[in-house]
Amino acid sequence: MITIKTFVEGPIDANNYLVIDEDSKEAVLIDCSSARDEFIQAIKDSGVNLKYILLTHGHFDHLLGVDGFKEAFGVETCISEDDMGQVRLVPDMLQMFLGMMGGSIPSIKNFVKDGDIIKIGNTEIKAIATPGHTKGGMCYLIEDKLFSGDTVFLGSCGRCDLPEGDFDTIVKSIKEKVFTLPENVEVYPGHGPKTTIAHEKKFNEIINY
Ligand SMILES: [Zn+2]
Repeated sequence: MITIKTFVEGPIDANNYLVIDEDSKEAVLIDCSSARDEFIQAIKDSGVNLKYILLTHGHFDHLLGVDGFKEAFGVETCISEDDMGQVRLVPDMLQMFLGMMGGSIPSIKNFVKDGDIIKIGNTEIKAIATPGHTKGGMCYLIEDKLFSGDTVFLGSCGRCDLPEGDFDTIVKSIKEKVFTLPENVEVYPGHGPKTTIAHEKKFNEIINY
């Protein structure tokens, strides 16, 4: 059995999900938008063994905490290698979006690719490549829950006008990778409230456009 704790973190309120395998107390953090003290303390207080940080993509608002988490927990961060271009753009994006100068490139050296299985205890996490919002966008399927990053939001999808974004590609990813999952799968997006595959198939305004 897994439990999910949601933390809304970082400058653009991204959802960070702590997914805990209750038998082993091993956990992953899906996206890591800040390393502020209260966030780190909340993870410590939850009593888990944090195995990995899994990034849905390389945009700054989803990964600003990875270096601080490495310092606090010794935990490595994994991302699609196709999004390392995005990771290198983090200082530029911080300047563009927040007017912040002197940001550093997060240190990430571990990669996940489509079809990889990551384990916490006996729970399997499947990586599903869903390019479009970025080239290396990744969803993570755990049991009947999909962590969709900025690929799918409630009723919508992530923007495609940033570097390496492509609208036709995100539509293809959603139709061929996300909507082929069972309809009862719950979708936990990178921003905003959760949804389900059934709901999105019916109401997603991008796909039904
Ligand atoms: Zn994004």
